[in-house]
Amino acid sequence: TTPLLKVSNLKKTFPVRGGIFGKKVGEITAVDDVTFSVKKGETLGIVGESGCGKSTTGRTVLRLYEPDSGQVEFEGKSLLALGDEEMRRARKDLQMIFQDPFASLNPRQKVAEILEEPLIVHKMGDAKERKAQVQELLRVVGLDKSHAGRYPHQFSGGQRQRIGIARALSTRPKLIVADEPVSALDVSIQSQVLNLMADLQEQFELTYLFISHDLSVVKHISDRVGVMYLGRMVELADRDELYRQPLHPYTQALLSAVPVPDPEVKKERIILQGDVPSPADPPKGCAFHPRCPHVMEICKVERPAFADQGGGHFVACHLMDRS
Ligand code: SF4
Ligand code: MG
Repeated sequence: TTPLLKVSNLKKTFPVRGGIFGKKVGEITAVDDVTFSVKKGETLGIVGESGCGKSTTGRTVLRLYEPDSGQVEFEGKSLLALGDEEMRRARKDLQMIFQDPFASLNPRQKVAEILEEPLIVHKMGDAKERKAQVQELLRVVGLDKSHAGRYPHQFSGGQRQRIGIARALSTRPKLIVADEPVSALDVSIQSQVLNLMADLQEQFELTYLFISHDLSVVKHISDRVGVMYLGRMVELADRDELYRQPLHPYTQALLSAVPVPDPEVKKERIILQGDVPSPADPPKGCAFHPRCPHVMEICKVERPAFADQGGGHFVACHLMDRS
């Protein structure tokens, strides 16, 4: 069956400007040849350190940024081929939840207006129907209809993210890109919001692209997980397989830093040398090679292919050629 979302060889660069005239002096490759797909009803987690290109991937998928090259297909059709008007209509099916609900909610709008706006934009229902829909949205995210007349600052962080989620849900989308949706929240509130997202996914048959730097959050919510490093997808597998048996040295290092609840399980922390290099000047070959404990000569010159090692476990690493 066709995946709901298929992303192939996606590339996105940004110019680096310098000097008083803001001349282009270089370029950052934020997303470099990224390929993955998301099935209907599943959650694909994308994890990686800050600056690895995961947010840019999410935004480029929704065409909030135009990619340099590559393909984005939604329900088997190219999103990139759509004209402005068609894209505007397609946005009804494609919504986004942001990290900072406060920054993404207009402080001068009442909650009712915030939730009604997408319905007006997409010409969904008359005034009476929209009002009923706003109340329904508040109910499904666990807020009260009496909240409709309040402003964003009158809510707690967790409640504001519920409003952000309600807004994303308002047009009955099929795909939601959630970019660090719980990272700004207290740990005690995070699981409530994650559980809400999981409930809503079931109730409304949603598909999530869930972006986070937090390995435990991603583990909690995802069916499959992709790991990004310096703009590249380095590993992608079923959640349990990835966490139990990571194959890429970068994933192994990342996971070795996550504390395990069981004190009987001895885990050796893998300490990586150096910092993440600048995306304006990524290392040749495998971008991870200057920090990799298993680096070989080929890694410095040849970029490893992102290849299926069996059962949809994709890895970009030359070590895979040897086993
Ligand atoms: Fe390490 Fe080489 Fe694999 Fe890159 S390709 S992760 S440098 S072993
Ligand atoms: Mg980000």
